Amino acid sequence: MKLYPLFADLAGLPVLVVGGGSVARRKTEALLGAHAQVTVGAPQLDEGLARLVEEERITWQRGEFAPAWLDGMWLAIAATDDRSTNAAVAAAANERRVLVNVVDDAELSRFHVPAVVDRSPLMVAISTAGAAPALARRVRETLEQVLDHALGSLVVMAQRHRRRIVRRRADLADRRTFYDWLHDGPVLSLLRRAQPQQAERVLLDALRDDQSETRTGSVTLVGAGPGHPGLLTLQALRALNEADVILHDQLVGAEILSMARRDAERIDVGKRCGGRHVPQEQIHRLMLAHAREGRRVVRLKGGDPFVFGRGGEELAFLRRHGIACDVVPGITAAVACAAFAGIPLTHRDHAQSICLLTAHGKDATDTLDAVMFGHARQTLAVYMGVERVDSLTAQLLAHGRAADTPVAIIENGTLPQQRVITGTLGELPRLSRQHGVTTPALLIIGKVAAFAVEHAPFGEQLAEPERSLVFAQAEVA
Ligand code: SAH
Repeated sequence: MKLYPLFADLAGLPVLVVGGGSVARRKTEALLGAHAQVTVGAPQLDEGLARLVEEERITWQRGEFAPAWLDGMWLAIAATDDRSTNAAVAAAANERRVLVNVVDDAELSRFHVPAVVDRSPLMVAISTAGAAPALARRVRETLEQVLDHALGSLVVMAQRHRRRIVRRRADLADRRTFYDWLHDGPVLSLLRRAQPQQAERVLLDALRDDQSETRTGSVTLVGAGPGHPGLLTLQALRALNEADVILHDQLVGAEILSMARRDAERIDVGKRCGGRHVPQEQIHRLMLAHAREGRRVVRLKGGDPFVFGRGGEELAFLRRHGIACDVVPGITAAVACAAFAGIPLTHRDHAQSICLLTAHGKDATDTLDAVMFGHARQTLAVYMGVERVDSLTAQLLAHGRAADTPVAIIENGTLPQQRVITGTLGELPRLSRQHGVTTPALLIIGKVAAFAVEHAPFGEQLAEPERSLVFAQAEVA
């Protein structure tokens, strides 16, 4: 081991920072975060440091470095851009047995400042002993994703009840099971939802009862986003990491599923078994059965669970049956497809409102408000619209939408095979057939759809050459 890792309590201790620029300022701010008593030594200070002096939060030693600055210090950091000054600080510090760090200079440093992931009081420090700072950053980024932001509060709570936990779970194996439950069970999920009182109650209840309490299952309805794995949220990723069972829709791709815990059971409930979908009641039954067996179930859906995703029905069902249930939002298709096709859903000149609607179901479009529907300055994002593109178009025209209203069909939005087809409302049915559009596809109808022609930043784009460009210029200019 080249370096001995240690976490230092610097509260109230004098510490010297040599240097007056932005690096020195960052070091100073971190030290102030640890409540150290900071003296900054430099001929001049940058604006931020000068403000700290003004606010009397730090002391300023004005001038060129002098070894006497180190008297009485516990630590020193050399953060000037002059190597000889830094070397002088290091030499003087070594002589006085003051631990010294020279920024970006492993050789001159007696101690290193690690990259950290801060979930105080939980703190992860990463060091490569100066050998590969870029790798340390990478490791840090990975841990930032994996470690829940609610862990800090969990650690505080566990600490507060530590004695009680030891008393109630005197047996070591029992205690370990209890901590496993605590670290990724309902207490954490309540803290994540900013409900500390309920979290505490669940913890105390579990301690009062025997171990059976700690085996309660739960269901998390998770939005997986539109398909691109990068559009999964951190919370969704964490839920996937914790899941024992994943019930997923067909829209959720293999790349996303591969991010889940290796040994999680994956059940495709979107599959057309023998030509049929798994009926909704059976999905309800599956969720219930697995949760009642004490498993953590993730119900993984494309896009957002509450946008045309039956999330509402599933939540109500689970609540009715007393199953703990959480919802993790996802990026819905309208938002993601628009972004990946270069279409701003609202625009000061063209659209002041957005309507998310589905053309699925017999009367779906009949029940919509005719005024809103026909409003020229509203963007319509139509889910499941391709199968009913004829009746949808006819209705929009009947409600007064102009035949030359720009439209965009976005097929497989955000995926490598994304296609964006643009044209006008009048020709929408023909375009859809001509290009053989298949599901999943989203229709965007309204003036903003014209932006797709010039701004689509992703995937293959199939425009009707002359016509599209003509209206694009007319609408966008
Ligand atoms: N809950 C989902 C919607 C489910 S309904 C969400 O919030 O996005 C399924 C419909 O969503 C599809 O028929 C299609 O209209 C749309 N959709 C979902 N993913 C899509 C994608 N990657 N590209 C285009 N449309 C998509």
